[in-house]
Amino acid sequence: MSEAPHLTFDLDTPGLSTGHLVVPKGSDCEALSLPVFSLNKGEGPRLLITGGNHGNELEGPIVARRLVEWLPEAQTCGRVIIVPEINPLAVQAWTRNTPIDGKNLNRVFPGRADGSATERIADAVSRLLLPMADTVFDLHSAGPTMDFPPAVITHPIADADLMAKTLRMAEAFKLPMTLVWQYHDTLGMFDTWAHSQGKVFICAEFGGGTVGAEALAIYEAGVRNALITLGLVEGEAEYPTFRQQKSSRTLETLSSDLLRSPTRGIFEPRRSVLDEVKQGDLIGVLHPMESLSADSIRVRAPTTSIVCMIRSGGHVDADEEIVYLARPLNL
Ligand SMILES: [Zn+2]
Repeated sequence: MSEAPHLTFDLDTPGLSTGHLVVPKGSDCEALSLPVFSLNKGEGPRLLITGGNHGNELEGPIVARRLVEWLPEAQTCGRVIIVPEINPLAVQAWTRNTPIDGKNLNRVFPGRADGSATERIADAVSRLLLPMADTVFDLHSAGPTMDFPPAVITHPIADADLMAKTLRMAEAFKLPMTLVWQYHDTLGMFDTWAHSQGKVFICAEFGGGTVGAEALAIYEAGVRNALITLGLVEGEAEYPTFRQQKSSRTLETLSSDLLRSPTRGIFEPRRSVLDEVKQGDLIGVLHPMESLSADSIRVRAPTTSIVCMIRSGGHVDADEEIVYLARPLNL
């Protein structure tokens, strides 16, 4: 019998304290020690901030570590727990999934104590960290293959009250897009599990394959806005500037708004994220590499909509996701 997951320090310690979340060893790897920062200023909101759920999305770990620099000073009340890299195995490998078991941490919640490495991480987070929070910010980004505006994402939640609270929290980031995503594959998501436990769960997203200073500043500003709205820090929430604009849109994307690649090839985007398109407008061109003809396949908008995510890198296989469209949220 291996040891149980545990923290190496007491989260109730006042002020800033640091230690590790220990994920027990299993047959596939040794025990893992995840750095944890606990900022305890007493009564108030209880927030858990996680990065590195997907290992090739580095904005989250970077912004989480930037928060550790200024939040201990700025925080006026409540409790914040920050885990910059909840899947260190994937972050080290710069891969979406955990290399040793091939699993996506964001599909195995609440995890299993006797499972593989990814499942043991989810189990430790579910048992020891999630119960300590009422609100969770899970900091993702779109990874190296998709362009995506700075955004916060949530999924439709059956509990109307939790849905309304979650949407209010999401909009408090004041990022260019708040997206309610009717996603086809939500089983085992950290989001879904946290929602089932009555938590407000916000997933921050950011596009692009490279980490840049401007993008990080917008991302961090969004998190700071949310911290202000929660009442954890003082200050005034402001829309960050994105493409010379300070604005925000709340959109929804349905399963039917996803366009898939008709064949293998190189996708050439002809539109950018947040562009409005009319039915029949050209969104992109797919160049099949095997073809001797110069005929490329034109990908057009099936309906009047807004481009919310578009393939920006990598050769695509047939039936892979290339474009997500969206429309203003109609509650
Ligand atoms: Zn992600």
